[in-house]
Amino acid sequence: MITKIRRRPKATWIPGKAQKYESLWILFNKFLILNVPTRGDIAEIFRHQAPPMSYTSLGPYAPSLNLPRFARILGEKLNQLQYCTLDPFKGSLSGFFDTEMRYCPICLEHAYHTFLFSLTGLSRCPIHNVPLLSTCPKCENLFETHLSNDVVFSPGKCRCGHVFLAKDFFRLKTLSDTELAPLSSLIHWSKLYLSKCDFNLIQSKNRQEWIKTFFSHSEVWSIGNPPEK
Ligand SMILES: [Zn+2]
Ligand SMILES: [Zn+2]
Repeated sequence: MITKIRRRPKATWIPGKAQKYESLWILFNKFLILNVPTRGDIAEIFRHQAPPMSYTSLGPYAPSLNLPRFARILGEKLNQLQYCTLDPFKGSLSGFFDTEMRYCPICLEHAYHTFLFSLTGLSRCPIHNVPLLSTCPKCENLFETHLSNDVVFSPGKCRCGHVFLAKDFFRLKTLSDTELAPLSSLIHWSKLYLSKCDFNLIQSKNRQEWIKTFFSHSEVWSIGNPPEK
């Protein structure tokens, strides 16, 4: 429990438990399950100014997130949290990610989620080869990706009460580096191939065509190999 972040910068957390490419959405829900931060604590992590806390994004683009601060509080290395948002794809590659948050139900059972699932055209989990979902299985609403009171006071739960993240998530078997390897190649591939393509991001019609061509290969990700050049 963190009551005085300033004097005691470490939160309740097991350093090294943040998994590769794990999203801010799942990380922050975990952080809230283990800690009861004050508004001041949250303000430090998100560089809050005037807007209400509920405007704060836990989504793929979280401009107010003070990532070095969050990493320090968890005791995690900064580069371990590098892909917790899609910031590394900022600029020309950001157009390749949908704003809709997708998740794999099996990954979520392992308390794992990544924003890499939002890559346009990716419809199946590259690790488990099951369809990616975007809504709560119980109420079919989108999961909350803003720091609303619901999230702060009932982390790990949908508004309908469905538990997507068990309170004892640290006891769950985490995904191994081998299991997460397809995501590494997905990042590698995205940076290597997508950045070389001259997509016209302004003319969306043109862009959609290219993307469709590229991700007609998205099945490839289910076996974890980047497509041949
Ligand atoms: Zn999965
Ligand atoms: Zn629900």
